[in-house]
Amino acid sequence: MNTAKHYIANAWVEPAQGGTIPVYEPANGAVYTHLARGTAEDIDRAVQAARAALGDYFDGPWGGLSAMERGRLLTKLSDAVLANHEELAQLESRDTGKVMSTARADTTALARYFEYYAGACDKLHGETLPYQAGYTVLTVREPHGVTGHIIPWNYPMQIFGRSVGAALAAGNACVVKPAEDACLSLLRVAELAAEVGFPAGAINIVTGLGHEAGSALSAHPGIDHISFTGSPVTGSRVAEAAARRHCPVTLELGGKSPQIVFADADLDAVVPVVVNAIIQNSGQTCSAGSRLLVERSVYEPLLARLVTAFNALQVGPPASDSQLGPLVNKAQQDRVRVILDQAREEGVTIAAQGATHPDAVADGYYQAPILFRDVAPTHRLAREEVFGPVLVAMPFEDEAEALRLANGTDFGLVAGVWTNDGARQMRLARKLRCGQVFVNNYGAGGGVELPFGGVKSSGYGREKGFEALLGFTSLKTIALKHG
Ligand code: NAD
Repeated sequence: MNTAKHYIANAWVEPAQGGTIPVYEPANGAVYTHLARGTAEDIDRAVQAARAALGDYFDGPWGGLSAMERGRLLTKLSDAVLANHEELAQLESRDTGKVMSTARADTTALARYFEYYAGACDKLHGETLPYQAGYTVLTVREPHGVTGHIIPWNYPMQIFGRSVGAALAAGNACVVKPAEDACLSLLRVAELAAEVGFPAGAINIVTGLGHEAGSALSAHPGIDHISFTGSPVTGSRVAEAAARRHCPVTLELGGKSPQIVFADADLDAVVPVVVNAIIQNSGQTCSAGSRLLVERSVYEPLLARLVTAFNALQVGPPASDSQLGPLVNKAQQDRVRVILDQAREEGVTIAAQGATHPDAVADGYYQAPILFRDVAPTHRLAREEVFGPVLVAMPFEDEAEALRLANGTDFGLVAGVWTNDGARQMRLARKLRCGQVFVNNYGAGGGVELPFGGVKSSGYGREKGFEALLGFTSLKTIALKHG
């Protein structure tokens, strides 16, 4: 693997302008490698490679493969990921600061995405439709063509798996722009894809900065669909560029997801799930359970348990046995610190704070987990995505208030409902404005099979599950008059 080159058409390619970007290790803040600094020329080269792989009429080396053949290649790629599991997990952990247990789980999930979409390739089909006498009408699902994938740094392998896996299964050729902080595992996966037999140009990776390589991808006329995961501001920029040339977009823009705990819930079951849903990946999870809404009568007992749990947590280097690792970069650490300093100055009550491992050096991007209590629903902490291990708790009086609070942010990605009242479970599940509801559990980021995506500022379109395949295809209707 050559980290300072792009991977285009199954080959390591020098950046056209020759620049590089330093890669910092979150555990210690030191530069440990460099990436190619991609520009519009590199994106163009990758798009040409993808187009050639598809062929003019889906008759190229990749476009001409049958669904079964695509599925077999994805199966081989899944197996290759498992065969290189530890290497990929180590790359991801060093690059992003993830503790090894998370990096290993992400690697397993990547293999599972490829496995899932391998099996789905030849189950994706159109329909026949009733129409006028003397006609046969059918629909066919065709790939968009060249799909662009702008990947964030929080779950590079998982988000690559869910978007590139589904796009390939549907027959598209992919141009991927990973986040500047998290490219290494994906470059290696692209190399593995070539080794197992993916034709040149099916998967192309161009590294670089968002406002250079990312915006060049968003604006390229040869990109037929864009899948973006990241911040709402950048999502709007990508969608605007795509809209100028009427290119469809899927946006996954994060959330401020509530966990709603009613008095009849099993608090023993609630505590570990609520803690994990906010510390997983150091809180840098779009679907993190970052707001805790608790029915007043169990507010104090639940907080007492959470205080004990938070005080026992530790942030530390990935190699330590800590439950969470450093944040991904200095900018993210500074961003989280500014929000926390403001909350402290304003007197928001800190109920508990975890510890920092003695091996966590000062130049690393460490942030201990924090539990705030009695946070006003209007406060920034309760409305904005902090993207750090920061949980805010607030009480509610009744179901109506719980629903109002839960739906009361600009986001709508995931919600958790904790109650044993079956009618209430379904009432809330239907009235919550979001893309996924978990009842008596919470799956931050989990569920390869489960369609995932948001409403409101959390974005639109769905990834994961079979639903994602529909988004990566264009439906054509063919009406045959035969008399
Ligand atoms: P970002 O949205 O700017 O970056 C995400 C991806 O978009 C990266 O690959 C980046 O290179 C690319 N990008 C940046 N500018 C671009 C542009 N003009 N055109 C095209 N692509 C561009 O996110 P960030 O600045 O790394 O993080 C800021 C905040 O975003 C975080 O603090 C967090 O709140 C949120 N975030 C959310 C998710 C998520 O999963 N929903 C992931 C990462 C970050």
